[in-house]
Amino acid sequence: MTSPVLYWLRQDLRLADNVAFAAAAARGPVIFLHVLDDGTPGEWRMGGASRWWLHRSLEALGTMAPLMLRRGAADRVIAEVLRETGASSVHFARDYAPWAEGLERRVKAACEANGATCHRYSGYLLHEPETIRNGAGEPYRVYTPFSKACFAAGEPRVPRGVPDFTPWTVTLAGDRLADWDLLPTRPNWAKGFETHWTPGEEGARVRLQSFIEDGLAHYADDRDRPDLDVTSRLSPHLHFGEISPAQCWHAVRAAQARAGGKLDRAAEKFLKEVLWREFSYHLLHHWPTLPLEPFRPEFSAFPWSDNPEGLSAWQKGQTGYPIVDAGMRELWATGIMHNRVRMIAASFLIKDLLVPWQQGERWFWDTLVDADIASNAASWQWVAGCGADAAPYFRIFNPVLQGEKFDAKGAYVRKWVPELSRMPDDFIHKPWEAPRLVLQAAGVELGNNYPHPVVDHAKARDRALAAFQEIKGTA
Ligand code: FAD
Repeated sequence: MTSPVLYWLRQDLRLADNVAFAAAAARGPVIFLHVLDDGTPGEWRMGGASRWWLHRSLEALGTMAPLMLRRGAADRVIAEVLRETGASSVHFARDYAPWAEGLERRVKAACEANGATCHRYSGYLLHEPETIRNGAGEPYRVYTPFSKACFAAGEPRVPRGVPDFTPWTVTLAGDRLADWDLLPTRPNWAKGFETHWTPGEEGARVRLQSFIEDGLAHYADDRDRPDLDVTSRLSPHLHFGEISPAQCWHAVRAAQARAGGKLDRAAEKFLKEVLWREFSYHLLHHWPTLPLEPFRPEFSAFPWSDNPEGLSAWQKGQTGYPIVDAGMRELWATGIMHNRVRMIAASFLIKDLLVPWQQGERWFWDTLVDADIASNAASWQWVAGCGADAAPYFRIFNPVLQGEKFDAKGAYVRKWVPELSRMPDDFIHKPWEAPRLVLQAAGVELGNNYPHPVVDHAKARDRALAAFQEIKGTA
């Protein structure tokens, strides 16, 4: 009997365009192993919303291939499975988290100790972080030249289909997915997720298809509008590897070619956003402390305030600033938040409330279905002004003006903050300025069914700028 090969599934929960899986499938009957390893990442144990997604994604994958599920340190589990099955080789996709390299080394040692060969593949990114360098041979710190270098590197490889494969059919001990307790129970805060998402490879494919048909044409002009469904919403699918960035890239290029020039601007814009994901991973690889420490060290001395009430109001969507509250409630209900609103909400936490960006990053880590160690850290640092190529600290979003600009009719706010649904457009983003009779007619009682603003933005802005002055001398 041919000995089996072990395919270790990580953040690549798909069968198509999967180099690691294709290589395993070409060698012999495949054992599909997924390990729930809560120990290795330490403080970056997977958050609640991601756990919900993982459950559903494994459920979907389990309908296409028999999965062996085990819990524990991945290197230890892989050694066990090698001993039990006599598998001749182990195949997996590279992970870029700061703890991954050490783990991959231990897996290699486990393979050697058990007489199996060990094979690591790329596929999570379009470009390996080591390959994109500036003229001096150093990693980029600025997005625009980085993205130009990516475009100059040429089109990514053409995606492949699902290879022929034979699953290994010998039954082995494994966990039941249900016993992993990935889904919330009491309370079931993920009820709303079920209607918004279809995790899994097929869900990702359908999402990409519908984005190309309905969203792409409007992407360049309307991607900043949270009231419209224009962006791809592919981020959780990309995060879990249910679709590869190369599949997204080429699908958009193909649509662009079919449209004969009409989609050029939209396609370029979309591909540049995909390159922000690449840039985040580039930064994380070269600066592995990115999720914890400011990229610009002078920000370590920033005089943050201890503001648990502010943090709690922000988390609950009760700041009194409608666009911020709408975003935070969308996040809680669906596990996602529109990119523009993420920027506004993050800026509010960091600059209006002076809460350290790491606390917002933590909350997003737990509540986003697309929570991603690289994109989350890079984006929080970008908003905080302490990241590579970040928005300058003194550029402080005004939540009222941002709301009026990007949600002019207040449709997004009305959807997620229903207590304001009858407010007229003129006051939807600043209910505290509405005359008493207008509030009354809209059924809004400030301080009763909707909060007064937790801070005065103008004063908060001055306070933030004064705080920045304290470290500016060192900047
Ligand atoms: P689209 O506009 O359709 O973009 C296509 C893809 O490009 C996305 O799916 C995503 O993979 C990538 N992308 C787009 N914008 C960015 C960006 N600014 N940075 C990195 N990649 C990007 N994104 C995450 O995937 N995970 C996170 O944990 C995360 N945390 C964030 C925290 C903050 C404070 C901010 C401001 C942004 C964060 N982002 C994060 C980036 C961005 O908000 C999301 O990628 C985007 O909203 C996902 O929606 P979409 O798939 O419809 O994006």
